[in-house]
Amino acid sequence: MNYRTAYWLSIFLWLAGFILLILGGISALSARVQWPMYLGFLAIVAGIATDLLFYRCPHCGKSLISVRGSIPSFCPFCGRPLD
Ligand SMILES: [Zn+2]
Repeated sequence: MNYRTAYWLSIFLWLAGFILLILGGISALSARVQWPMYLGFLAIVAGIATDLLFYRCPHCGKSLISVRGSIPSFCPFCGRPLD
C-alpha cells in the first residue's frame, strides 16, 4: 500500500469508526446491541495502524503522520517530492 492510499484509507476508517461508535453507543443504550460500537472501535484502531504502518515517505521511509493537513508535496525529512 502506498502512502496516498494509506492516507485516504485511514481517513475513511476514522470517519466510519466515529460514525459507528456514535450509532453503536445509541444502539447499545437503547436496544442493547453492542456490536456496532465494537466495530467502530476496531475501525478506529485499524485507521491508526494504517497511519502508523503505511503513511510513510516512499523515499526515506519516515512516517508522515506528524505532517498536518493534507498530503505534503515534499517530504519534510528528506526533501524529495512526493508524487
Ligand atoms: Zn522522505
